[in-house]
Amino acid sequence: MQGLANLPDSLEVVASFQKILPRESGEFVRIAPEQLQEFCGELRAVWNALEKLASENKKLVRGEAQSILHGWWRKYPLKDGPHWNVYFETGTFFPALMNWRALIARVCFDNRDKLGICKNCKKYFIKRRTDSSICLEKGCRLYDNLQRQRKHQEKKNAPRKGRERA
Ligand SMILES: [Zn+2]
Repeated sequence: MQGLANLPDSLEVVASFQKILPRESGEFVRIAPEQLQEFCGELRAVWNALEKLASENKKLVRGEAQSILHGWWRKYPLKDGPHWNVYFETGTFFPALMNWRALIARVCFDNRDKLGICKNCKKYFIKRRTDSSICLEKGCRLYDNLQRQRKHQEKKNAPRKGRERA
């Protein structure tokens, strides 16, 4: 999901991304690159909107994020197969693997307070903790450590040589 959000907004890149995907990836590989590019744009819009709502401590999903997610969920009518698994015994339903828009909508919704945009590299990432602001890339962790050290030094008001984690 992060991979899709971080794809550059270019039809050429999206088309070559589809070519390197394994054929089992299903519809991802078969839809027109324009459609996948449009989906990636929607995913970024959802991510930006949910990140903003979470930063305001709002658990509700409204506005643009809500309308895009609802579009993904309602792309296929809710009936048993092939896009949905309906369990009549428990009165529950779940998107089938091929219904990837609804699955990604589910993941976005369930992780709505963990969708982050890295303060350093500006990439979309899933936070380990709701207050993380830096992704796990090596360069970004180093940046984060340096920021922490700087803050710590400012607090102590005395220069101190700290050790950096690799
Ligand atoms: Zn980063």
